[in-house]
Amino acid sequence: MDEQTGNTKLTDGNQNLADGEQAPADGGNAAPVNRREFLKAACRVAALAAMAVGARHLIDTQNGGGKVWQIDPKKCIQCGRCATECVLTPSAVRCVHAYDVCGYCKLCGGYHKANAGKLDTAAENQVCPAGAIVRTYIEDPFYEYRVIENKCIGCGKCVKGCTAFGNGSLFLQVRHNICAGCNECRIAVSCPARAISLVSINTPYVSPKE
Ligand code: SF4
Ligand code: SF4
Ligand code: SF4
Repeated sequence: MDEQTGNTKLTDGNQNLADGEQAPADGGNAAPVNRREFLKAACRVAALAAMAVGARHLIDTQNGGGKVWQIDPKKCIQCGRCATECVLTPSAVRCVHAYDVCGYCKLCGGYHKANAGKLDTAAENQVCPAGAIVRTYIEDPFYEYRVIENKCIGCGKCVKGCTAFGNGSLFLQVRHNICAGCNECRIAVSCPARAISLVSINTPYVSPKE
């Protein structure tokens, strides 16, 4: 988990290039799909380094209970309460992005409104009310989407769009470098989907793939 941006693969903390993805040796002149894979792999390496820092921070700052609050992305129905019920403002819940799940779609339900007049980067055509998602053109028809964590308010609107029309690579998580570690999470109490529970500090993030 990248503690600065929230963009990472969250599955198990063991993700690395050993799963068959390697940087191209030709400096980026490989076939289109390889360049895309290279970009994904680079993101993961950066995320791994940040995860190590984040894990240390987490262990240093949480109390000794061995449990932390977390959202199960498969249960979350993006009701919006994660943005409004947290004791912190803005909420400790933010959107994170699993690059290995993302389709790098040109038409992204998490980025563009369903009724967008144009598929461009104009604010009025974007789902995110906070301008927290940045897209970068890779090559036709692929775009990379990145969450700017300190802009995200945890509203879940992009998650709803991605879940409805895409692969579900955008999802909400309690960010443990922000969370106050309340004895009873106020969001968990009001969550209509009972999607928030205490999980082991050793597996503090939950991937939509799990
Ligand atoms: S309160 Fe529950 S259902 Fe609503 S956005 Fe948060 S985790 Fe999802
Ligand atoms: S739409 Fe909401 S949850 Fe998604 S990035 Fe923007 S502020 Fe965060
Ligand atoms: S434990 Fe407290 S600070 Fe953390 S997400 Fe829940 S309400 Fe917010």
